[in-house]
Amino acid sequence: MPTPKKTHAQTSDTISHLTDMSMSTSVFCPTTTTVCAVRFTLVAIVAFVLMEPVTYALHRWVMHGFGLRLHRSHHLNAARVEPSRVELNDLYPVIFAGAVIGAFALGFNASQLSILVPICIGVTAYGVVYAFVHDLVIHRRLGSRVGGRSRALGHLARAHKTHHVTNGEPYGMLAPYALRAISKGLRPSHRPTAS
Ligand SMILES: [Zn+2]
Ligand SMILES: [Zn+2]
Repeated sequence: MPTPKKTHAQTSDTISHLTDMSMSTSVFCPTTTTVCAVRFTLVAIVAFVLMEPVTYALHRWVMHGFGLRLHRSHHLNAARVEPSRVELNDLYPVIFAGAVIGAFALGFNASQLSILVPICIGVTAYGVVYAFVHDLVIHRRLGSRVGGRSRALGHLARAHKTHHVTNGEPYGMLAPYALRAISKGLRPSHRPTAS
């Protein structure tokens, strides 16, 4: 059976679709795989670095703002002699993970949004490091003493414990004092809620 010939309109649609795809590819992955790999890695690194100020903003203005109801459970639980294993605050990472999974799906399925893939990789890497530092090292949620001798981790732990005591600065996690200096002069977002 002979293959039906494409109409002129169909052919032009196909060409324009391919052009769109190649244009979007040329923006992110222009000529060689090496250039593409370098760009991919740079975008992921930039996304990782930018996640610290994004986390600062979320922690300060969302988790200690209109989302305090969930986040308060973390502050209260951490102050207990024997903290419970699960807290309402754990919904935050679940929500963030859902958003990243959605962005990954868009990045893999829409060529114009393919830049979302390295961005999501950087964001995911930050999330893993954040969970390691905050949940395992500082709050010892698995019970074991992880990274106890590291000066850098000890510095981050002291900074975060200051936040737990005051319910104020520093809101950052991996660069708490740098962001604290930048925000110097701004008023705390709320008064302490836990004693
Ligand atoms: Zn904490
Ligand atoms: Zn907090």
